[in-house]
Amino acid sequence: MKNTLITIKQLVSEAQCYEVIRTLGWQGKVNCPHYDSLEIIKRGYHDHQNHRQRYECKTCQKRFDDVSETVLAGHHQPLSVWILCLYFMGLNLSTAQIARELDLNKDDLQFMTEHLRTGIDKKKSL
Ligand SMILES: [Zn+2]
Repeated sequence: MKNTLITIKQLVSEAQCYEVIRTLGWQGKVNCPHYDSLEIIKRGYHDHQNHRQRYECKTCQKRFDDVSETVLAGHHQPLSVWILCLYFMGLNLSTAQIARELDLNKDDLQFMTEHLRTGIDKKKSL
């Protein structure tokens, strides 16, 4: 067998990362970010990120999804890159090392680490 270079990104799937977010961010119970209502219906998946669950609140009809209320919303990196970044930060890797592992430029990474330091919890609880 040839000695090919394996990157961590190949070992982590988006599906797994959304599972992590649902456990960490929602702590197993999805509630409406606006009124804390627990009467939530699932509304299929995001058009471009097909593991990203969408929800609708039965009380106020507002729609949200797995990451729309977190610091991860609205950024172009796949969720797995954010999760891995968090993991490497926990290992105290330097910014340069993380950038190399995730194949990101330093500016992008700087931006991500700043966001992640504030926590990946729902925005309202920050
Ligand atoms: Zn609501």
